[in-house]
Amino acid sequence: MTFDVIVIGGGITGLTTAFYLNLYGKKTLLLEASDRLGGNIKTLKKGSYLFEEGPQTILANNEAVWKLIEDLKVEVEKTSPSSEKRYIYKNGKLIPIPLKPWEFFRTPLIGLKSKLLLFKELFVKPPPKEDESVANFARRHFGEEFLRYFVQPFVSGIYAGDAERLSVRYAFPKLWEMEQRYGSLLKAFLKEKRVAPKGELISFKGGLSSLTEVLALKSSEKQLNCKVLSIERTQMGTYKVLSKCGSYETKNVVLTVPADQTAEILKKLFPPIEVLNEIIYPPLAVASLSFPKVGVDGFGFLVPKEEGLKILGAIFVSSLFPNRCPGEEDCFSVFLCGETQKDICNLSEDEILKTAVGELKKVFPKLGEPKFQRLRLWKRSIPQYTVGYGKIYQTLEEFKKRYPGVEIISNFVGGSSLAKCIEKGYQTAKKLVEKGN
Ligand SMILES: Cc1cc2nc3c(=O)[nH]c(=O)nc-3n(C[C@H](O)[C@H](O)[C@H](O)COP(=O)(O)OP(=O)(O)OC[C@H]3O[C@@H](n4cnc5c(N)ncnc54)[C@H](O)[C@@H]3O)c2cc1C
Repeated sequence: MTFDVIVIGGGITGLTTAFYLNLYGKKTLLLEASDRLGGNIKTLKKGSYLFEEGPQTILANNEAVWKLIEDLKVEVEKTSPSSEKRYIYKNGKLIPIPLKPWEFFRTPLIGLKSKLLLFKELFVKPPPKEDESVANFARRHFGEEFLRYFVQPFVSGIYAGDAERLSVRYAFPKLWEMEQRYGSLLKAFLKEKRVAPKGELISFKGGLSSLTEVLALKSSEKQLNCKVLSIERTQMGTYKVLSKCGSYETKNVVLTVPADQTAEILKKLFPPIEVLNEIIYPPLAVASLSFPKVGVDGFGFLVPKEEGLKILGAIFVSSLFPNRCPGEEDCFSVFLCGETQKDICNLSEDEILKTAVGELKKVFPKLGEPKFQRLRLWKRSIPQYTVGYGKIYQTLEEFKKRYPGVEIISNFVGGSSLAKCIEKGYQTAKKLVEKGN
């Protein structure tokens, strides 16, 4: 059978792409290797508990997210107003992250000397010519302490990554662009009134899986348990997609699968693509925990490496979404491992869970025994846009020139946030529709 487009991978990116292609009249087939759709999005519902075992929320900071919500008519669940309160763990205490300039000057998170460095930032040294790590970028602008108590925890919260290895240009392109334009980030902030991306933090009634479930119902024709093995080009200039459930002919292919799978599928067509195997995906464990109520309030906390806890941080689920946890309990999603503490993920699942509970109790000594506990281990979690990532983009550019009918929009290209995945899916569908055949 011939299709206009075959979408490979049924996570949020593939589902969004297939949904819009179908909506705009393209004959589309989505092929998914596993027996379920949603990819990384995994909502756990058990009795009165609702936990996210993968991504927790969407930072809805682009139009494509709001368009998708409107097109699908899914019911948004906003995070509670207390979610503005976020904390960093220091010296056995949770210290609020300053949100206002005067709070910054009062915070005990960094010393006076580091605070005064902020003024020096207006005269920051120019960036090096070569790709720079997030850590060096932060050191150059704000100094070592700022890096340790703000930037590294933030990097492990977003990428489960290591600031020393991630590239500022590829992992945080907005910051990099601001430096290119203004030099100083403080100047950029004064001109643009913000440095961090704006947007609303949302989920859906029934969790993030509600979005992928509706998408699955409304998207194109699909095949589960259908791992794609390779792609060949035919003499007619079309593509043949070879999979465990048969082979299909198509004019266009959209790949949304992780880097190792993309390399495997395309290596016969374009051997240099094997460079994608160099992309690091650190392990990440998410412990879903509930305890008799002690009264936590806010979004959650992050842990600087220096503080020596064996967790990266936690989200206060019962404060963020009060209806997802029994009223007399406090629920948490606790994150472990990542690029900076990967060895913890070599422990057994029971031991990881025990570590999560034990370390959380160091933060909240009044916590009793868990009433609910579950662990999800991601052996390969979030792709790391490391220093030197330009080499990956260069290879992808060369591939694109040779095979214009094959789009690669996985989360290792152009951003891994859910909002970016949705945007890439929508834009790619629109591009293919505008292109015609
Ligand atoms: C633990 C965790 C927490 C996160 N937290 C957040 C968060 O809070 N907010 C946020 O914005 N982002 C978060 N992220 C990132 C975000 O969830 C992902 O980047 C996003 O879900 C990726 O979606 P995707 O569709 O591109 O890929 P995936 O979700 O990886 O989907 C790819 C799909 O392709 C399928 N597949 C693989 N190989 C093949 C093959 N050969 N043939 C056919 N199908 C194949 C897979 O089975 C899978 O279903 C988190 C990620 C993780 C892992």
